[in-house]
Amino acid sequence: MKYVIIGNSAAGVNAADAIRKNDKKGQITIISNEEFPAYGRPLISYYLSGKVKPENMSYRDASFYKSRKIDVLLNTEVTKIDSKNKKVITSGGKKIDYDKLLIATGSVPFVPPTNGLANQENVFTFLTYGESRRLKTAVNKNSKVVIVGAGLIGLKAAEGLFGQVAKITVLDLADRVMASVLDKPAAKLIQSHIEQNDIDFKLGVSVAEVVGEKKVSKVVLSNGESLLCDILIVAVGVRPNVALAKESGIKVNRAIIVDEYMQTSQKDIYAAGDCVESWDCLANACKVLALWPNASNQGETAGFNMSVGNKQKAPVSFAMNAISFFGLQLISAGIIGEANKNSIFDRAANKLRRLNIVDDKLLGYVLINDTQRAGIYTALINDKTKLSSLEYDITKKDIGLSVYPKASRVCKIWGQTK
Ligand SMILES: Cc1cc2nc3c(=O)[nH]c(=O)nc-3n(C[C@H](O)[C@H](O)[C@H](O)COP(=O)(O)OP(=O)(O)OC[C@H]3O[C@@H](n4cnc5c(N)ncnc54)[C@H](O)[C@@H]3O)c2cc1C
Repeated sequence: MKYVIIGNSAAGVNAADAIRKNDKKGQITIISNEEFPAYGRPLISYYLSGKVKPENMSYRDASFYKSRKIDVLLNTEVTKIDSKNKKVITSGGKKIDYDKLLIATGSVPFVPPTNGLANQENVFTFLTYGESRRLKTAVNKNSKVVIVGAGLIGLKAAEGLFGQVAKITVLDLADRVMASVLDKPAAKLIQSHIEQNDIDFKLGVSVAEVVGEKKVSKVVLSNGESLLCDILIVAVGVRPNVALAKESGIKVNRAIIVDEYMQTSQKDIYAAGDCVESWDCLANACKVLALWPNASNQGETAGFNMSVGNKQKAPVSFAMNAISFFGLQLISAGIIGEANKNSIFDRAANKLRRLNIVDDKLLGYVLINDTQRAGIYTALINDKTKLSSLEYDITKKDIGLSVYPKASRVCKIWGQTK
């Protein structure tokens, strides 16, 4: 059996591992258009800041591939999937046969068309280790950095550059930071904390024009203001990387459509990770849940099903972000809704605990610097537990497993069902 995997990251690597557990003899080839071996993508900002050294970026080292007899082609772009003849074609014109194919192509940065932006040398995105390295060599202590986008990636770039440059300004069209995952109080708290580290925000504005010959020297904002700039980072968002799948006739919505076994609309072609839509069990809809653990689980499921037949269903999931900014711990999960004063249970200058309780159930939460109960809250969301069935009020601070009635405590601790 010949397995080909496009993408050597969370989804692709875990798929290859699962395949090898079930098929000791099959030929496994992973193809990556990046020049580096698999690395922890969330670590690229820590590489930028110098907190993580290049030798510690690795997600799986060479022995992982060697011991599992997995061939890896780096620096190789798959340009076409010929599903009729079961081959992929690479940028070098090589044709590689497959019996089972996994598309694990992740996301691509979205760069909005902007006056003057094209072909400027000092413009960066922040999605790959290669881009983080390019940025690290481009900055110096006099650099004036403008980051467009105050989402997770833009803020992580700001954190990575902190202390290495003269000025960092973060812009966003939204009125708050991390607008897609945070409510106003949480966003305000995160913003104030980051501002204390001398990073400026300009919210509710966009870039009207980028000025400079070959190199950006200034950005003009939609409110008429101008910012001098010698490094411009575009971090307005990512899009599922679906071009290959689309061209080969695989069904694609916003992302690749897969069934519960991670199989696409075409037999023997699977997809996993940030490039697919998966079932959000809280929103009751298919969504792109662009998270490392989600990509790993889906890759593992796809690899299992590619090697033994469609038997394992992908775990259902919901949106969850666990991240830190300048030492502030943030976890948000589920449907957080809009904040109101009845949903915030603890609040201090650098702390927040908000629970979104609807119809006796916990639907989501936002925790800042108060994250020790995240596991319990997540389990309550996951199990769709009726809060009135618990022994304690979860809005109170001191909860642990004791929130559960005694009988279910035994199950939670020992995994017993009776
Ligand atoms: C700065 C940053 C911080 C993050 N922090 C977190 C975090 O704290 N927690 C969290 O859960 N998630 C985080 N994420 C998101 C997480 O990294 C992704 O969800 C995860 O990497 C998705 O894995 P994947 O395997 O689906 O795709 P990716 O990791 O995107 O890998 C896809 C790979 O496929 C390659 N590829 C694409 N097309 C081709 C082609 N045609 N031919 C060959 N190769 C191709 C790509 O170059 C890439 O190497 C972060 C992301 C970034 C950028």
